[in-house]
Amino acid sequence: MSDYINNSIRYSVDDDGIANIVWDMEGRRANVINGESSAAFEEVLNRVINDDKVKGALISSAKPGIFIAGADLEQIEEIAFGPKDAEQLNGSLGALSDLNRKMETSGKPFAVAIEGAAMGGGFEMCLAAHYRVMSNDPRVQVGLPEAQLGLLPGAGGTQRLPRLVGIQTALGLLTQGKSLSPDKALKIGAVHELAEPGKVQEAARKWLLDNPDPVAPWDKKGYKVPGGGPDTDDHRNMFMVSTAMFRQNTKGNFPAGPAIMSCIAEGLAVPIDVGLDIERRYFVSLLLDPVAGNMVRTMFLSMEKLKKLHGRPEGIAKKTFKKVGIIGAGTMGAGIAYAASKAKLEAVLLDRDIEAAERGKNYTAKKMDRSIEKGRATEEKKQDLLSRIHATTDYADFADCDIIVEAVFEDRGVKATVTKATEAVVSPNCIIGTNTSALPITGLAQAAEKRDRFIGTHFFSPVDRMQLVEIIRGQETTDETLAHTLDFVQQIGKIPIVVNDSRGFFTSRVIGTYITEGISMLNDGVNPALIENAGALAGMPMAPLTVADSIGLDLMVHAGIQAEKDLGDAYVESVATPVLQKISSEEGRHGIKNGKGFYEYGQDRSKKLWSGLADMFPLAENQPSAEEIQKRYMWIQCIEAAKCVAENVIQDPAQIDVGAILGIGFAPHTGGPMSFIDTVGLDTFVKEADRLAAAWGERFTPPQLLRDMAAKGETMYGRFGS
Ligand code: NAD
Repeated sequence: MSDYINNSIRYSVDDDGIANIVWDMEGRRANVINGESSAAFEEVLNRVINDDKVKGALISSAKPGIFIAGADLEQIEEIAFGPKDAEQLNGSLGALSDLNRKMETSGKPFAVAIEGAAMGGGFEMCLAAHYRVMSNDPRVQVGLPEAQLGLLPGAGGTQRLPRLVGIQTALGLLTQGKSLSPDKALKIGAVHELAEPGKVQEAARKWLLDNPDPVAPWDKKGYKVPGGGPDTDDHRNMFMVSTAMFRQNTKGNFPAGPAIMSCIAEGLAVPIDVGLDIERRYFVSLLLDPVAGNMVRTMFLSMEKLKKLHGRPEGIAKKTFKKVGIIGAGTMGAGIAYAASKAKLEAVLLDRDIEAAERGKNYTAKKMDRSIEKGRATEEKKQDLLSRIHATTDYADFADCDIIVEAVFEDRGVKATVTKATEAVVSPNCIIGTNTSALPITGLAQAAEKRDRFIGTHFFSPVDRMQLVEIIRGQETTDETLAHTLDFVQQIGKIPIVVNDSRGFFTSRVIGTYITEGISMLNDGVNPALIENAGALAGMPMAPLTVADSIGLDLMVHAGIQAEKDLGDAYVESVATPVLQKISSEEGRHGIKNGKGFYEYGQDRSKKLWSGLADMFPLAENQPSAEEIQKRYMWIQCIEAAKCVAENVIQDPAQIDVGAILGIGFAPHTGGPMSFIDTVGLDTFVKEADRLAAAWGERFTPPQLLRDMAAKGETMYGRFGS
């Protein structure tokens, strides 16, 4: 018989005096570390320590595939956005760290059976146990991913891992938040033993019965850190180089990396108890920094909500998709076919001629060949995927498709022709999605008879790497079409956001402002290198002129002409137009596609800023500071996002933030444009926008909505969050 403590941990003692501590949190798919489960863990620790009959303890999990998934991030979010007091946090957040140390120094041996993923706080608990047996199943992983969310492992991870595996190895694992396969974990010494699946508990028990040792290596006399402590010449050099590299890669936007380095450099020079205290203080400092809270909310909690289709219209039965038709087997169509086939859907890939359609199918073959080379796939898997993709030129093959995704050229006429041809053959229930990047959906829907089944399905390139799909509702799109399209996106493993129809929708509008802002500065005589570097400093993954070259400067000119035609008197010329006309229309420099744009591209994939820029756009005597340019980039994007909110293109801050980071790489450390505005504070944001408008132009004038909200002391998440 076992006791079920706090509905979290089952506890029993067997005839051999082994206490079985089984993590099994009620009503959850995964065990997590929160207030309740920590209290349960404390209770079982006390029982083990105080019961003379108990000789040792075996910790395991009843959840298939998961040991402990980590800290309950909702609690982290509450702390990050609630009232904060550093001293109080120091006390409350140290609870798990204290429990781990209590277990480690209890005088009784603890072994863990890691039969499923042990991440974050879960793996920290394993590191504090005296013996770790891990399943030999490659799907089982262990790791400390906190840095990816702007945090550090605060329950001993930064102290025990380097004491076990050496400083250099641990530093890489901790700062990148990488997880370890069973083989790797054994090789570096993060676990003691691997056992076949199903035999893990038995192996851990055997250690407890045969040769238990209840003292951690670092609590033994004469312990030395493998590879030496932090003050060896090698390690001092390594810290110096790593600090510089970290700064270079993150531009100082991610405080977690430097904090982890400090924990190791300072904490490993002193006894572990002092090291744990040092770690706790750095952990609290990260929680007090907005980066961690914003990242946890957007990159984990909001993303999880969207994966579960938060906001899907209610009362509509879920639809399972079997067959997708794709029109246009180019860059996007080929990628969508690959994604669909990977998700076990049949894909009919149609193009104007069979060679083009086959080329699109061949994209999957090439992707799989690369995976086979890297040992990540087999020939059988490749053939399986290819067997589900049917290349064709015949619309009749669409007859039994559940959904069509149109991905032909960005041209209204071509899109209208293929829509009509499709509607002539598909069933009345078939959804027709268009992958247009910017053309309003309601307009494209005019080519269709059944406009209620017409919707925007905006995938991003490259489709297999980009998780986001921006779903655009046309005026006549029904709730049912929207709900089922969301089901489709979920089925192929992507994350959807939903927006209302507007020119450029949400993502293209926001990224467009960043690019045009960068381009416009050339006309003002700003040094091109400064324009580019300030983008990186702001945390954007690609600099603005670089993005422009990859999109194609001629395409941008064309989009401007199209917008002018469509909008008539309402058209406002972009500040980038004069530059684009000179460089693309007059000089024939169209970007990466013809090897010359703002950059000069070499055959060897090298690139350097085009020297002709200096003659075309002479440098101004007074250059703006990098800080001012960064501000322009961040403000112009956030103002555009706020305009989308004011125009009801999209209003849910979670979708805006996830969409901006996943779709267009908006500086991830900010948590997205809505988190950015809230972190700055609406009042300050509006005042700064007005200053920028006075200095650089009307486009920085914030929408009235922001002024009203600032006057009322509101926040974006407070007003629009769910
Ligand atoms: P692409 O030029 O690589 O491919 C278009 C394909 O459509 C070509 O294979 C062409 O032969 C085919 N096609 C053209 N007319 C056709 C017709 N009448 N019938 C059948 N096939 C026809 O273009 P792409 O980059 O894949 O873009 C496709 C759509 O996706 C565009 O609307 C584009 O704006 C949008 N989009 C592109 C990207 C991107 O980064 N490439 C990202 C998001 C959205």
